[in-house]
This record gives sequence, structure tokens and C-alpha cells, in this order.
Amino acid sequence: MVISNAQDEMLSLLNWLQAMGVDAAVGDTAHDWLSRGNEAPGAAFAWPERGDPASPAKAPSDAVRADPRQSTLRSRPAEPQGASDAGRPRAVTPLGASEAETGARRIARAANTLQELEAALQTFDGCGLKATATKLCFYRGAPSSDLMIIGEAPGRDEDLAGKPFVGRGGQLLDKMLAAIGLTEADVHITNVVYWRPPGNRTPTPQETLACRPFLERQIELVSPKIVVAVGGSAAKEILGVTEGIMRLRGKWREITAGDRKIPAIATLHPAYLLRTPAAKQLAWMDLLQIRAKL
Ligand code: URA
Repeated sequence: MVISNAQDEMLSLLNWLQAMGVDAAVGDTAHDWLSRGNEAPGAAFAWPERGDPASPAKAPSDAVRADPRQSTLRSRPAEPQGASDAGRPRAVTPLGASEAETGARRIARAANTLQELEAALQTFDGCGLKATATKLCFYRGAPSSDLMIIGEAPGRDEDLAGKPFVGRGGQLLDKMLAAIGLTEADVHITNVVYWRPPGNRTPTPQETLACRPFLERQIELVSPKIVVAVGGSAAKEILGVTEGIMRLRGKWREITAGDRKIPAIATLHPAYLLRTPAAKQLAWMDLLQIRAKL
């Protein structure tokens, strides 16, 4: 192809970038992330060492060390209606001593309000997604709510607005909520990770794990009656299961957040419903269950 002038050349370059998955400008100058070596955001993240609790991590004191085995967020299938917890020991998962001393969990637990949690996230560098995102997307809706909705990750619109679920999917989510008589003021909406993954890819396990202590603390602070995971990826993370969303959706389970057990359910992601309108009837059945439980 003959490129006639500088404008064509620029357009050609932009088309190429778009084809490569670049769909948002995040700064005026290019960054050479490779040259930053261990200083790249998220580089402080280290997988927890398995085994010996007496020899805590060799990582720097501010490294993120969130151990999924010690997570306070756990799920199990809900018990049949009417079953009682009375007289049974509560499935509280205490924080391990070394874990409480380090990383994201320590920072997140120190937050006593959502404002403090947001401020902690703003200064937290343990999740590599922060490097390429424009804004932190913490939550939208009510600070405290009976219904907490958790999606996978912010997309382009969310990244620009700094709020979860504001794009086309979010608009459909709002319509779904309106169908059961709820508005933004009645719900607390967030994601499993707080920054947009480049090109809307699925967050890596490291990225999710780095954000997880904050999400757990957020659930404790919001103290919802019900948690709804939207989409397969969020459902797996929140419910701690591996089944696909079609098997998971519409079934109540229970998660443990702090010292509370909270009913949780998965439903289909609005982005999927936009692509597959026939699946809306399944989502409607899930919404009816959610309304009945509130
Ligand atoms: N999809 C999600 O899972 N979350 C958002 O915030 C937007 C789109």
C-alpha cells in the first residue's frame, strides 16, 4: 500500500494499534515497562509461600501477600430453607498471624470506612492493572446496601468514568434492577478487580488475588444481605468454585465474609445478555429469586 501523506500514515498507525487491541490512550508519553524491571506496578506481588507459617515471606514489608487459603471469603452450597445454624460453631476463618502483618490484607483491614478503603486502594501498588488503567473504579450506588453486585472488571467506559458498570452492560444491569423495583440508590455495585485490564482481557489470578483483601473488606463494610456475582469469572472468584456459569447460576450458596455468612447467587453477565438476548429469561428467573430474598 502506498501511503500518500502524513495523515494517512497516522491513520494507518492508529488502525494498526486498534487491531492490536489498543482502544484507549492512557498517557501522553509511552512507557517502556520492560525497562522498569522490578519497579513496575504490581511487581511487589509475590505468591504466598506454601507450608511453613513460621517462616513468613521474604518479600518487602509492603508487598502484597494475600493467601487464598486464608481468605475470609469462602462459599458453600446454601442449606435448605429452614435449616438453622443455632448451636453450631460458626465457620469464621481467622486471619493468620503472619498474614495479618503483611500486605494488602493488613492495609485493607485497617480501613474502617469505605472512604478509608478507597484511599488505601489509591495508594496501593500491588496490582499491576493500575499501571495501564486511567482511574480506580471502586463502586457505584449506595455505600451500605442489602444488595451487593460484583462483576469481573471495569471496561473502557468504566475506566474513563472511574465507576463500575456504566457502559452498555451497566445500562442493561440498571434495567434489570429496575425490573425488580431497584435503582442505583438501592444497590452497591463493584468488581472483583478495581482497575481495567488492558484490552478487557480477563484479570489474571495474581491481579484478582491482589485485590481480594480489599473486596473482602468492602463486603464487610457494606454488610449486604445478599451478594450477587455477575458473570462466570466473578462467580468463580466470589463463590470459590470451578463450574461454568450455566451450572452455577440461579443457585443460592453462602459466603463467609468476616464473621458473617451471606447468601450469594450467580447470574449471567449483562454483556453476555446483550450478545445473547434469548438468555434473558434465565437472568429474569435469577432476578426473581434475588427479589424474593431481599
Ligand atoms: N463488566 C464488568 O464485569 N464490570 C464492569 O464494571 C463493566 C463491565
